Amino acid sequence: MQTFQNMTLAATLAAITLIAPAAFAASDTAEPVDQSIYEGRETLPDPSEGNCDVEKSLVEFKDNLYRHTNGSFPATHSGLVLITDEGALVVDAGNTCVAKWLQEEIKTRFDADIKYVVQTHAHWDHLAGTQVWQDAGATVIAQRNAIEPIIGEKLPVATPDRVFDNEAEIELGGETILLHHEPAGNHSNSMVQVVFPKQSAMQCTDVCQSKTFPYMDFLDFYYPGWIKTLDWVIEQDVDLIDVGHYNDPATTEDIVALRDYMTDLHAQVLELSRQGMNWDQLWRNVTAGNEYRDEWFGYEYMRRANIEGMFRWVDNHRRGVW
Ligand SMILES: [Zn+2]
Repeated sequence: MQTFQNMTLAATLAAITLIAPAAFAASDTAEPVDQSIYEGRETLPDPSEGNCDVEKSLVEFKDNLYRHTNGSFPATHSGLVLITDEGALVVDAGNTCVAKWLQEEIKTRFDADIKYVVQTHAHWDHLAGTQVWQDAGATVIAQRNAIEPIIGEKLPVATPDRVFDNEAEIELGGETILLHHEPAGNHSNSMVQVVFPKQSAMQCTDVCQSKTFPYMDFLDFYYPGWIKTLDWVIEQDVDLIDVGHYNDPATTEDIVALRDYMTDLHAQVLELSRQGMNWDQLWRNVTAGNEYRDEWFGYEYMRRANIEGMFRWVDNHRRGVW
């Protein structure tokens, strides 16, 4: 018995020794993309290639989670950066020249290589620069629907190495990072929210807002999925949300206010349309968002465009007695 116990102990110790490094090996639940299909694909010229003359930063967000930015308010583009013993995970880039700077900054300050890159959605302004990090050996993950526009629009960005449908997990440096996609769409049909449970933080680019009106006329817009996404974000109840732009992180309270603004705007535009108002009359009668005139950024720039975008959605999705 004694011998058996000793053997078991020895076997257990051996197993721990073998398992321990593997438990911290970077991994993910996404699926590989056959990159050979897209080898040598045609891309458009990259306007951000030599454009380093912009403000850029890498600042603490919470604990070992940082925020990278390029460009100045209100045209700032941003994404979160997780630093671990096993390397860095970076969300989006937004400028090819700044991506080279950020790679060196992460190496100099944290002695870390970029292991994972998450592409939030297939819009060039957020993904420019991801090619730099893929060329340096990072694994690029996106939602499956991102492939079609990246290839079809000839975007000068990394073709994803791995894709997922609705949910995926990345393990890096002993931390679990969660990727979420709303299949009904929101801002594009390839959007990914990235949750960092240990830091109670989230990347919710373009769909979430931090005391700002949503961008212009809701380009690449899916109304029902946008509301479902905001409901899901509210359920996660994280402390800090980076919205991919501007300066300040959003809170769950900001997302509740945004959801209520968008549902009000939708209800008003639908009701006024049903009253038979034409566009010139309709937009002047919308009151949604007036309460945030001084509190949120963009009342003058965004709100009328918001009404226009919502009108376009509503007009495309209703039919009366005809
Ligand atoms: Zn976008």
